[in-house]
Amino acid sequence: MTGRTILVSGNWKMNGNHFEALKLVQELAALLRAGGLPAGREVSLHPPFTSLRTVQTAVETDRIPVQLGAQTCHYEDRGAFTGEVSAEMLAKLNVTYVLAGHSERRAYAGETDEVVRRKVDAIVRHGMRPIVCVGESLEERQAGIALDKVRHQVEAAFVGRPAAVVAEAVVAYEPIWAIGTGHTATPDDAAEMCAAIRAELARLAGSAAEATRIQYGGSVTSENAADLLAAKDVDGLLVGGASLDATGFAAICRAGA
Ligand code: PEP
Repeated sequence: MTGRTILVSGNWKMNGNHFEALKLVQELAALLRAGGLPAGREVSLHPPFTSLRTVQTAVETDRIPVQLGAQTCHYEDRGAFTGEVSAEMLAKLNVTYVLAGHSERRAYAGETDEVVRRKVDAIVRHGMRPIVCVGESLEERQAGIALDKVRHQVEAAFVGRPAAVVAEAVVAYEPIWAIGTGHTATPDDAAEMCAAIRAELARLAGSAAEATRIQYGGSVTSENAADLLAAKDVDGLLVGGASLDATGFAAICRAGA
């Protein structure tokens, strides 16, 4: 027992309009209420921006036991950044967790380590918690440089941060080759990388790293969730495709408990 609360996060990506989002969150609420959420478990939902207000209203009105999350944000608070949404705006919607550096955004939206760092600055400045996504490509794994790549991403996001920020942050280890592919890392591989991430956080922030939650993400399903959660140093799951099905996601939220 580590004392760290398990965090299961549903990244809905670019799926669903706000009517569909409301239906999904209500279905999930009914399932979580019926089966209960195990002690020491926390759930966050990361809908598209257009559904955030709808999901926020449902969660707060019906006291649904989930935290509101976002998929990204801009690092500036306001200004001439057409199409962007700031951390300040998300905080006003009572968002708790914001993804930073998801591999899809690193690949398609030019999120460099420097941009990710600035996003983490903004998320923390507005009182929310970052979920910093890190992970290697298949080529990097095959070349034997996966550990170096991930350590470097962790260092870029967290070097120089106060211990309290590191303790409250979440890191999601998401091997790029496992995202949306149906190829999941083995629990041993996930444990090895999550231990390396914690060691890097400890190098940067000392004992605060013991409190940081480290998620695994990449083709998580209700079938493999329990084994992944049982792996050492895995404190939660970041779930993409499987979070769009309320029944399956509710099972993942309870997996292994
Ligand atoms: C993700 O979007 O972070 C993810 C891990 O996706 P999937 O579960 O679909 O692989």
